[in-house]
Amino acid sequence: MAEIELFAMNTADWEYEYSAMMRLQRPGETYPSLTPFYLIDHPEGVVLFDTGTSAEMLADPANYGAYGASHMEESAGKEIEPTEGGSASEQIADLGYEPEDVDQVVLSHLHLDHAGDIDAFSESTIVVQQAELEYAWWPADPIQRSLYLEGDFGPLRSGAFDVREIEGSYDVFGDGTIRCLPTPGHSAGHQALQVELEEAGTVILGADLAFTQEAYEQELQPPFAWDTREALRSNRDVRNLERAEDAAVYLAHDREHFEELPNPPESLM
Ligand SMILES: [Zn+2]
Repeated sequence: MAEIELFAMNTADWEYEYSAMMRLQRPGETYPSLTPFYLIDHPEGVVLFDTGTSAEMLADPANYGAYGASHMEESAGKEIEPTEGGSASEQIADLGYEPEDVDQVVLSHLHLDHAGDIDAFSESTIVVQQAELEYAWWPADPIQRSLYLEGDFGPLRSGAFDVREIEGSYDVFGDGTIRCLPTPGHSAGHQALQVELEEAGTVILGADLAFTQEAYEQELQPPFAWDTREALRSNRDVRNLERAEDAAVYLAHDREHFEELPNPPESLM
């Protein structure tokens, strides 16, 4: 198998209310979460999975995008703080990659903590589920609406972007090493990413399939899930896959999962 490397980076620390992320659990407690993204260097090209939180948005929510994101003012810089490395495009530069080097940006979904720096990647193909694109423009649920920022994904409509809308599974390079796994529920078009590594074996980047290991094992979804039933089905699908493939699952917001991954410039191989 070709040599593939996976790097994990964090764009912002996010202290969140435990009960808001894991329905009715530990009311009043907070959880020190984070908003990571991943770079996969594959012999055929470089892939990003998610783009984290926009540092530009956190610095000035009211002027972010065409319509601003004033509702973020209360949490930006308090519950959500950018890390020193900055946005995804700045962090990959520290590893020696320019945005133009990125062939494909695969987005798990378009919530603000996953799709924050897309506009830096206008030279890349943006891979996202069709259902996610549609729902992001006008979510029925007001909580979901607050998580989708026009400033993040609005540029995709500009025509400057090559958007690959997919429906269902998708093999990024056609060799089975990097595959999108549709896992709807948390959001309408949520997807995880399965990566085959030479030493580490099968890795599943679960994004927001569940918020933490506890949530994943106990099937605890947040109260604002787009569709709880679908989310549970996706959670079970991945647990079955994890067992069948002896895979390692890394959820985006579980601090321990992130800390298990090597610190760049070290990578998982
Ligand atoms: Zn989300």
